[in-house]
This record gives sequence, structure tokens and C-alpha cells, in this order.
Amino acid sequence: MSVLLCALLVLPGCSESDRPLEPPVRFEGSIFGTFYQVTVMDSLTQGESLELEEGFKAELESVDQAMSTYRGDSELIAFNEAPLEEWQPLSNELIEVLAISQSVAEASHGAFDITVGDLVNLWSFGPGARPEEVPADEVLVEELSLVGFDAVDVDTQAMQARRTRNVFVDLSGVAKGHATDRVAAYLDQQGIEHYLVNLGGDLIARGVRDEDEQTPWRIGIEVPEDGQQRAQHIIPLESMSVATSGDYRHYFEVDGQRFSHTIDPRTGRPVTHQVASASVFHPSNAWADAWATALLVVGEQEAMQMAIENDLKVLLLVRDGEQWRSVASPEFVNYFGASLVDELGIEQLPTPPLPASNPPATMPAEQPVTGE
Ligand code: ADP
Ligand code: MG
Repeated sequence: MSVLLCALLVLPGCSESDRPLEPPVRFEGSIFGTFYQVTVMDSLTQGESLELEEGFKAELESVDQAMSTYRGDSELIAFNEAPLEEWQPLSNELIEVLAISQSVAEASHGAFDITVGDLVNLWSFGPGARPEEVPADEVLVEELSLVGFDAVDVDTQAMQARRTRNVFVDLSGVAKGHATDRVAAYLDQQGIEHYLVNLGGDLIARGVRDEDEQTPWRIGIEVPEDGQQRAQHIIPLESMSVATSGDYRHYFEVDGQRFSHTIDPRTGRPVTHQVASASVFHPSNAWADAWATALLVVGEQEAMQMAIENDLKVLLLVRDGEQWRSVASPEFVNYFGASLVDELGIEQLPTPPLPASNPPATMPAEQPVTGE
């Protein structure tokens, strides 16, 4: 029965499930302790929309089952409890996320580090219930002595991994991005052409918001203040994803000092510099998510240096007294265009940018260093 006929006529055989829905079709719910919102602009019937929702929820559930540190039966918890040194065969998805994590760990010189799990717990941001207080120095020093991404080996050929020290592997800084990728891949497989996935602020846009007008999807980069849900910048997004890490949502305060859930693996303490949020635009949201966490750890100068070395499209919101300023990496400016960047009042790095950490002697001064 054609959708159109069912829409126009009340015919026997036209069930509720054939009823066409007026786009946008929105799906909302919660997962991983956060929300999801999927918006589809394609024409769907009621039945198709229910099927789609069931399908992408199964993807979210499978990521939770593999990577949650909050459910005792997850694959990650079993990995964390397995004997040291012994290789563990793991699912494709866990291996993929571990491999991405280790790449970003290496490229960020350990700023992103999935072995911080016990520190995250210690600071009360993990599954282990702890009071919101500053841990004693001795305890931090002891925990810190184990932390380091070299404590996890990943063999992508044999699809196995192992821990070589007793660290608690925490994938919360990258799993949400991976889940966003998975929902998008599922929608692609189902032939959906125009959609926006928002999983707790990690987003992927595909196609356009309005096909007739060719209006792109537009996403907001939040004002970095708790309790505020205003956009500081509105940015058009076309077949691209973005992840943001910020210090303004998950934190506690002691004596007016803010302790956020992003831990600097070099000190064992929550980050303290002026970068309030780091947004990374990348075709894969898992990479964007991991990088956003890494860049929030290192602070403005090093973040921009890493953005240049790794060709990352980055937007930082940096606190400046009661206000903040926005700074874009060169690749962000290349991708979105200097005129949009100007229009949004975003600073660009001066050219030549900050000195590269290891510039080849022959490199022209104005040429940015590129990573792999
Ligand atoms: P959000 O969940 O707000 O999007 P992130 O993607 O930045 O935030 O992930 C933060 C989580 O990542 C923390 O709750 C913690 O579990 C974990 N984490 C904290 N510091 C690091 C780090 N330096 N490297 C990797 N993961 C981290
Ligand atoms: Mg992250």
C-alpha cells in the first residue's frame, strides 16, 4: 500500500503503521547517564520510524554492554578483572575503541589516557561511590605510579588486548563518540540520508536540514556555564561530526575551587587551566571525542600545537575574566572558511603559529607541521 494513498484516503488495509509522518521525525531518550536525540528529515511511515528506533537503540545497548564501567556484566569490566599479562580475546568494537584510544594517547603524549579509571573514581567521577572531596596526596601519588597508556597492549590483528599493570581502563572519554558513530552507521545502512544524531552533546550530521531550501544542519557550541543552555556559536555542519569536552558540567567545588571530571594524567588531578571547552570536528565522532578530552587536558597553547600537528579542526572557548574568547585552529579555518570564522568573532592563530615541538630544520616558517 503506497504511503501517499494511505495518507490521502481512508482505505481498508491502510494500517497505523503505514501512516506517513511529517518530518522532522524526532526520537529522544536516555542512555549512558545522558540523553540522546535523533532527528530524521527523510520521509518515514510510523512503522518505519518504530523499526528505526528499535535498530539504533540496539546499537546503543551494544556499546553500553561492551564499554560501560557502570554495569558489572560489561565486556570492559571483565577485561579489567582479567589476569595481568594474559591476552584477552575481545569484540571488534572494543578492539576498535581501544585502538583509537591508544592512537590518540600516543599523539597527545598521554593527555588522553584510558588508564586513569582509578583516578576518576578517586575524584568521585567514576562508578565507585566516593565523597566529593580532594583525595590525599599520598593516595594520588600511589595511583599515579600505575597510570600510563603503556599499561595496555592492543593487538588489532589477533583481536585481543591485555593489561600489563593493575590499571582500571575507563573508556568514558571515547565511548560516547563511538556510540554516536554507530547510530550514524546504522542510519546510513537503513538508507536514511538526512539526519542529526546528538548523544549527550556529541553530534553527527548527515545530509541537510531542509532539502528544498538546501539548508544545512546547524549546531550550537554551548556557552561554557553550568545551567545555561545557550549557544555561543552556531555552526553549519554537513556530513561531519563534533564532540565537545568541557569543565562546566561534571564537577564539584571545594572552597570555591572547581574540580571537573577531566583528569590530567600527568598530575593525577582535574584540569585547572583556562580552557572551558574544546570542540573537535572530525568525520569520526570517536576520534573527535577522544581528541576533545585530550585537548581539554593540555590547555590552550599545547592544544593548538597538537591541533596543528594532527590537522585537527578545533574550536576552544577560553575563560577570560568573567567572559571567554574563542580560538580556532588553522584546519578549522580552512574547513569552515575565514569569512564564517570572522562573522562568528572567532580568533584565528597568528601566522606563523606557535613553534612546532620538533620542526624539521628545512621547514619554511609559515608551513604548519602536519602529523600522520
Ligand atoms: P563528557 O562525558 O562530558 O562528554 P569527556 O568525553 O571529556 O566528557 O569524557 C570524560 C570522562 O573521560 C571522564 O568522566 C572520565 O571517565 C574519563 N577521563 C577523564 N580524564 C581522562 C583522560 N585524561 N583521558 C581519558 N579519559 C579521561
Ligand atoms: Mg571525550
